[in-house]
Amino acid sequence: MTKIDKKIVGFGIANNAEKSSPSAEQSADNSSENSSNNTAALEQTIEHMHENVGRPEMLVGATYKIKTPLSDHALYITINDIVLNPDTDHEQRRPFEIFINSKNLEHYQWVVALTRVISAVFRKGGDVTFLVEELKAVFDPQGGYFKSGGRFMPSLVAEIGDAIELHMKTIGLIQTEELSDIQKQILADKLQKYNEQNAIEPKADSGYPPSAQLCIKCHTKAVIVMDGCKTCLSCGDSKCS
Ligand SMILES: [Zn+2]
Repeated sequence: MTKIDKKIVGFGIANNAEKSSPSAEQSADNSSENSSNNTAALEQTIEHMHENVGRPEMLVGATYKIKTPLSDHALYITINDIVLNPDTDHEQRRPFEIFINSKNLEHYQWVVALTRVISAVFRKGGDVTFLVEELKAVFDPQGGYFKSGGRFMPSLVAEIGDAIELHMKTIGLIQTEELSDIQKQILADKLQKYNEQNAIEPKADSGYPPSAQLCIKCHTKAVIVMDGCKTCLSCGDSKCS
């Protein structure tokens, strides 16, 4: 039991490690200086991502299958997450490591290098969403390809970035800009009108007219010209001349 013979000027929540450490008394003496607030003490107990956060025995994650026209074999991207501050208001799920597997060994060397660098960036902490834009901006000089749905993929690296983006959206690290139902309806009406005007049978895989151009905003072959306006039927981006 401790007798308090001074005025209490501040308090904080001590954890067991601090209690048993020899510096505990010393810090108690300095408590008048540190009395500024207990939000600081609270802040200390919130775990943020940094390189010394140990890997728990078990992590949960997701695996994304990627099939490109560049290879006969599919690529499997696994991203495992760590949950920081579980069961608190500050609970946060963050990517912790990435693995890429494929039967195709052609790209093995740089794919392994890439996954190690990305995993290291994940563990460093801070804002890691920039990785998505960096990877998606990589263009293959031999030319990209279109995925089903008419979306253009400029390279295999960009495709990996796309999978990371999807994962970050799923765990809430990146907010999705969803079109409203009204916007979707307007675009669907436009598509129908365009198809009627041009007597087009809708293309099976994407639903966008075959004559549609590539949208520079969402990289989907979904831009139609109607009534003097260019409209992307995928993201709604529109320009009138
Ligand atoms: Zn678009």
